[in-house]
Amino acid sequence: DNRLNLIQSRIRDFPDFPQKGIIFRDICPILKDPAALSAVTSLFEEHVRAQFQQVDLVVGLDARGFLFGPLLAQRLGVGFVLVRKKGKLPGATVSVAYNLEYGKAEAEIQEDAVAPGQKVILIDDLLATGGTLYAACSLMNQQRAEVLGCLVVVELKELNGADKIKPHPVYSLLKY
Ligand code: 5GP
Repeated sequence: DNRLNLIQSRIRDFPDFPQKGIIFRDICPILKDPAALSAVTSLFEEHVRAQFQQVDLVVGLDARGFLFGPLLAQRLGVGFVLVRKKGKLPGATVSVAYNLEYGKAEAEIQEDAVAPGQKVILIDDLLATGGTLYAACSLMNQQRAEVLGCLVVVELKELNGADKIKPHPVYSLLKY
């Protein structure tokens, strides 16, 4: 698929960011190129339509899941909700602690963001260790929403993040 080549050409590698030994995959050039951003959205949309009969919500992860998620949600004709880092959301929230590839964090959603039984798709830019998506899946399970699957632009295969998220399926456009 030519779209994957285009998307891949719009990812930049930054060695030793944000820490020595880590190669940061920068997705900003995708956003700067409307054709590449549209390619990402279309590939996600085609996958979701082919795999799942009914989707109720797209759930984006702080912060780069917010860039791709609303575009997909609009294409699917469903709403978008935010999983944020702790302390950003007003009102009643539920939170869960998790480990990052480099550090620790807490993920949070508004208590009324998802209803029990709703079918949700989680979305982020990149899957590394899977800690972030795992935390988001835990929040969805706590709220008794049904996680249909997780979408990422990039999956770092050697960190085995997809195993961590099992049994929820991960669909990645590019694998490194
Ligand atoms: P994980 O929790 O899977 O270890 O890390 C994934 C999270 O960290 C995602 O929210 C992602 O945005 C961020 N992240 C970690 N490494 C990278 C990277 O190399 N590039 C980008 N764009 N995000 C990263």
